[in-house]
Formats: sequence, C-alpha cells, structure tokens
Amino acid sequence: MSTAIYSHPDCLKHEMGDWHPEAPDRLRAIEDQLILARLDGLIEQRSAPLAETAAVLRNHTPGALALVRDNLPAAGDYYPLDGDTILCHDSYQAALRAAGAAVAATDAVIAGELDNAFCAVRPPGHHATPTSPMGFCLFNNVAIAARHALEVHGLERVAIVDFDVHHGNGTADAFRHDPRVLMAGLFQHPFYPYCDPEPVSATNVNMPVPALADGETVRKLVQDYWLPAMHAHRPQMIFVSAGFDGHREDDMGGIGLVESDYAWITRQLMAVAREHARGRIVSCLEGGYALSALGRSVVAHLKALAELE
Ligand SMILES: [Zn+2]
Repeated sequence: MSTAIYSHPDCLKHEMGDWHPEAPDRLRAIEDQLILARLDGLIEQRSAPLAETAAVLRNHTPGALALVRDNLPAAGDYYPLDGDTILCHDSYQAALRAAGAAVAATDAVIAGELDNAFCAVRPPGHHATPTSPMGFCLFNNVAIAARHALEVHGLERVAIVDFDVHHGNGTADAFRHDPRVLMAGLFQHPFYPYCDPEPVSATNVNMPVPALADGETVRKLVQDYWLPAMHAHRPQMIFVSAGFDGHREDDMGGIGLVESDYAWITRQLMAVAREHARGRIVSCLEGGYALSALGRSVVAHLKALAELE
C-alpha cells in the first residue's frame, strides 16, 4: 500500500491557552511515536497546503468562515468563540492547513498517487457545524474533504466513519439530508455534545455506546451496524474522523479502546474500501488527549493503513 501523512508546522501555532487539552503537544506526541516506531522513514510525509476558501465554503456558510477569519486577536491574546473553542492569532492559518491537508489528501488518493492518507492536523473538525465552530473545532476538515470529492471530483457516494468518543454532530448536520453520504459514528452516550443518538435517516448510522464499553463491545457494534450499512451504501471513497479519545488511558472519554482496537477498526474499513472504493481512504485526526496513548494509537492506525504489520 502507498500511504502518506499530511501535516504542517502551522498546525502547531493554533493554541487555546496552557490549560487547554487540545494543545500543540498532541501533534508532537504523534511525531515522537512515529519516530519511535520507525514509521517516519517508511511512510511518506507531505506538507499540507492552505485550503482555498472556496473549499471551506462548500461546507460552511460565509458567516462561519468570517467568524474565524475576522476575529483573530493580536499575538498573545485570545478570542473565545465559546467556553472551550478559542481563537489565537494563528488559528485561521492553522485551520486552513488542517482543511487543506484533507483536500490535498483527497486529490492525491483520487488521482491514484496514494492508496490512503492520514492527516495529522489540528484544529480538529467534526463538531464544527456548517454554520458555527464549536467543541475545539473551527472548520469541519472531513466534511470539507467529502464535499470536495463529491462536488469537484464528481464521486456519487462516500462514507464518513467517526470513531471519536464524541458524536460528530457537525458532520451529521452537514449531511443529514444528503443521501450520497453515509455517516457512521460511534460515540459514548450520553455525553458531549448531547445530541439525540437516534438515526435520522438510512444514511446516518449512529452507534451510541455506554460509558465503560470495551473493545469487544465496540467491535461487535462495528460488525453488526457499520459494516452492513457500508456494504449497502457502496461508498466510492471512505473518510475517517479519527479521534482517539476513546482510548482506555484518555480521561476525556469513558470508554476502553486500546491500540489493537483502532488497528482492527482500520482493517475493517480497508476491507470495505477494497471492495467498493478502490482502497481509497482519507483519515483526519480529531480528538485524543492522553498524549502517549494518542501517539501509540495513531501508530496502530497508520500501520494498519500502510499494511505494515
Ligand atoms: Zn472527541
């Protein structure tokens, strides 16, 4: 398999204060574990371009874009958009790199240059709705990439899979009435952002899991719900909201996944992608706040994507 990692140093410049868990050290922890696992020499690393505003505006209203672009504080200051979503001077640049990574990875995978790609980026995206940033997220990177695949490349059906411990409410909002997009999410429930977990359409497969659920429970749900829905949808490309805050060591969530669970989920998605989507997968980092567990989980995800185990 040919796999690449997209990232950019600008993604380290977005910071929301020393107390905030969604911190630049998350990307440094991933980088450290890639080096420890000797993946840095085996998997190509690509520089993320800035997303064009047209790409952002395929998923977000002009008002949502302006909320970020036009409220950047002076260097060293902060501008809170809500209680835990905060702009610093470099946040817009970082957000355009994060979305740009997802779009560039989509282009490369559809062009056949790569089989799949992982975007090691922040800010994350899956809580950002079409009309507003929220929940540490500014622009919805995965949703922007999916719209790029549909509207620029002309794909007819895609799937977005979200295994972050939190519900990807922003992504669900974006595609609630779009039958081209299967949104399959697993998330702790009840938990932030406290959405109704009932499926709202045939292409919105919610898998609420109770606190303390372990890998075995989650794997069974994936087998019983996600995989049949994905085979029925026959996506031509799969996007992944890869959040690792469901790791047993991550205090942000209360479920008990470990590295081997993330590798297993990834392998299931790859099998679906091989069958329906020419293997095409673009995965974007969402949550994951226990730094060592985050780095190790990304390594497990990447080793599965690159078939290095
Ligand atoms: Zn999360």
